[in-house]
Amino acid sequence: MPVSGLSPYDDANIFARILRGEIPSRTVYEDEWALAFHDINPQAPTHVLVIPKARFVSFADFSARASEAEIAGFTRAVGKVAQMLGLEEPGYRLLANMGQDGGQEVPHFHVHIFGGRPLARMIATR
Ligand code: 5GP
Repeated sequence: MPVSGLSPYDDANIFARILRGEIPSRTVYEDEWALAFHDINPQAPTHVLVIPKARFVSFADFSARASEAEIAGFTRAVGKVAQMLGLEEPGYRLLANMGQDGGQEVPHFHVHIFGGRPLARMIATR
């Protein structure tokens, strides 16, 4: 079920639990700013989620409230993960769903990295 990207942060959300180590995940990369792990329901041969370590509900929240160091650290982590996964030469797609119409289901800001094959059109038309 899509969620609002404007709600207060919910410490019980699934990615908060992954960050606290309460739920296992297949970690790809971790640093001071970000954690990257394989999506549990991959939509492409490579489908990795990158999340900031701090408590941000959505891209709207992150872009408004994160410090410049958090934004830089997170953005560099996304690029580093894609590079580590060998996706730079063939290419990849980034996606951040925000709120109800964006189809965001987990209320902790995350970026999807998709790759491993030529990807379909950018967005479904209906
Ligand atoms: P959203 O629709 O919020 O952008 O994407 C949430 C993503 O999180 C989905 O692609 C879903 O498969 C993934 N996901 C949901 N629960 C878990 C989980 O417990 N572990 C992992 N690794 N991924 C999850």
